[in-house]
Amino acid sequence: MMLDTLPPLREVIRAYGLDARKSLGQNFLLDLNITSKIARSAGSLEDHVVVEIGPGPGGLTRALLAHGAARVVAIERDPRCLPALQAIADAYPGRLTIIEGDALKIDPRDYLEGMPARIVANLPYNVGTMLLIGWLRAEPWPPFYSSMTLMFQREVAERITGTPERPHDYGRLGVLANWRCETKILFDLPPAAFTPPPKVTSSVVRLVPRPVLAPCRLETLERVTSTAFAQRRKMIRQSLKSLGDPMALAAAAGLDGSERPETLPIETFLALANALDAR
Ligand code: SAM
Repeated sequence: MMLDTLPPLREVIRAYGLDARKSLGQNFLLDLNITSKIARSAGSLEDHVVVEIGPGPGGLTRALLAHGAARVVAIERDPRCLPALQAIADAYPGRLTIIEGDALKIDPRDYLEGMPARIVANLPYNVGTMLLIGWLRAEPWPPFYSSMTLMFQREVAERITGTPERPHDYGRLGVLANWRCETKILFDLPPAAFTPPPKVTSSVVRLVPRPVLAPCRLETLERVTSTAFAQRRKMIRQSLKSLGDPMALAAAAGLDGSERPETLPIETFLALANALDAR
C-alpha cells in the first residue's frame, strides 16, 4: 500500500538503526494496511487532534495523517526515533507535533490548542494499562478526548471490556473502564503482524466516554473495587470487612452479603461506594 511518498518502514528502521528494544515495549507495525485499518477504526479525524503515544518509527502516525487527522501530537520516549518522526513532520507541514518524553509524565492537554482530541495508539505493553487508567481517571468528566482506540494484549483487552457475564475477565479495570466509557474489542492482530512478534495475540479496543452513568466519587469506587476483587471468590460480607461493617454496606446497596464481587454489576459497585461515602 502507498499511503504517502515516505520510504517503506523497513527502510526507515534500517536507515535510523531502530532495532526494537524490549525494555521500551517496542513491537512495531510495519504493514501500512494494518496501520490504516487502525486509523480508519478511530472515527473521523478531520476536526481532531490525535494524541498518539509511542509513535516509534511512525507507521501509525503516517496512517493517521494520511487519513486526514487535523493534527497529531506524538509522544515518544526513545530519542532514536526522533529523526524518523521529523521526516514525517516535514512531509506533513504543521500537522505533526513531536514530543520527546515519558507519556506517564506528560499531560496531552497542554498541546491540544482547544481542539477536540482522540487518543490512538499501539501502546507499549509495559505501561499501557497505567496510561489507560490515567485517562479513565481524567477530571473533569466528560474528559478532553472523545474516543480512545488502543492496542493491548488480548488478555488485557478482555479485562477492559469485562462484565459479570464473563466473570473470569471481570475486575477493577472492567468496572472503572465501563463506568466511564463504552468499551468494545474491534479486532485482533496475530503476533506475526508485529516486528518483533510478541508472544500473544493483540486486540484493538475502542473506548468512548459516557456521560456520567451515576454520580460517585472515583477514589471511593476504586477503594471498593480493589478491596472486593482482592478476594474475588469470597462473599462480600467477608471481602469487604476491611471497609467496616460489611453487612450494613451490603444492605445499603440492596445486597444480603452472600454475593461474590465478580457477579455484581457496575451499578452495585457505585451503590456500595456511595453507601461508604454516606457514612
Ligand atoms: N506506534 C509504533 C508502531 O505501531 O509501530 C510503535 C509501537 S511500540 C508497541 C510502543 C512505542 O512506545 C515504542 O516506540 C516505545 O519506544 C514507546 N514508548 C515506550 N514507553 C513509552 C513511554 N513511557 N512514553 C512514551 N513512549 C513510550
